[in-house]
Amino acid sequence: MGRAYEPVDSPDETTVFPYHDLSPPTTADVYAARRIVDRHLPRTPLVRSESLSAEFDADVYLKREDTLPTGAFKIRGGVTLVAGLADEFRDPGVIAASTGNHGQSVAYAGRALDVPATVVVPEDANPSKVTAMERLGATVRFHGTDFDDARERAEALAAEEGYRYVHSANEPALVAGVGTAGLEVVEERPDVDYLFCPVGGGSSAAGYCLTTGALADATVIGAQSEAAPAMYRAWSEGHLDPCDRMETFAEGVATRVPFAMTTRVLRERLDDFRLVSDAAIERGLRDLLADERIVAEGASAAGLAAMRELRGDLRGETVVLPISGRNVASETLRRCIERSRAEKTGL
Ligand SMILES: *Cc1c(COP(=O)(O)O)cnc(C)c1O
Repeated sequence: MGRAYEPVDSPDETTVFPYHDLSPPTTADVYAARRIVDRHLPRTPLVRSESLSAEFDADVYLKREDTLPTGAFKIRGGVTLVAGLADEFRDPGVIAASTGNHGQSVAYAGRALDVPATVVVPEDANPSKVTAMERLGATVRFHGTDFDDARERAEALAAEEGYRYVHSANEPALVAGVGTAGLEVVEERPDVDYLFCPVGGGSSAAGYCLTTGALADATVIGAQSEAAPAMYRAWSEGHLDPCDRMETFAEGVATRVPFAMTTRVLRERLDDFRLVSDAAIERGLRDLLADERIVAEGASAAGLAAMRELRGDLRGETVVLPISGRNVASETLRRCIERSRAEKTGL
């Protein structure tokens, strides 16, 4: 069989195919995505946090994206992309490289829309994550020792077998889909003043900028670990150079390479971007666990850590903090509980 697709030149250091449209989605695209998302997923609760409202002397609401199937917001993008798949890809299906929430999102969407899904993971991938993807009906293929090996294999398979390669950020449909969370925020709290969003590949923050930022005129602020600042540097310095430092325990915000499309949206629309320490992220995780009894991923706590840096600005304001996901590694959870007990914080 001839090769169906070859990668094309990419403005960033990632691989893209001819079907990857790098023009950012619009707010109208998010409304279009909402018709699909509403068909497949429940709307998520926006719940006032008494502990954080008291701490900040503000009205703080948690957008509980962790309550979605698979436990993370990414699934909004997955169902949007797969629902809009071109006919030529419906038989071969979609392929992605991921050890985490992106893989589960693509697997769930494939099952929901009857499209085969393949996820490539490194050989030593966490068995519980592999099981989760298999349970969703995905074919899991193992390749290499790290994420980049798995990603290269997925790209090669996409070229050879004609799968639709689902990029983790250069996908307007993913951004439009995850943006539906921001529409829900605007409808429930049109008075929102601030929204703090973790940034990994930037799709979620871009989605909030196009909705909560554009429609409610809220100040949207991104947060990333200072131990993995690739997207922060792209946003602040205006280039797409990879960053060798990527040491954060918060997998959801660990990216080595900045992405062209999301960087463009964030440079145009994101109001501020904060780097926070891994210690501050872990502090946030422990507080969410002890005070709210919420199991969140490190990525979600990055937003809380950024709120703490801007504390003085938030008094009296209405603030939304998305809890982006709940798939925290067992060791991280155990460490948080042990440290909380040592501090006698009520866990
Ligand atoms: C992917 C992810 C993020 C980061 O989102 P991006 O859209 O990649 O910036 C944050 N939190 C969780 C739980 C995630 O899975």
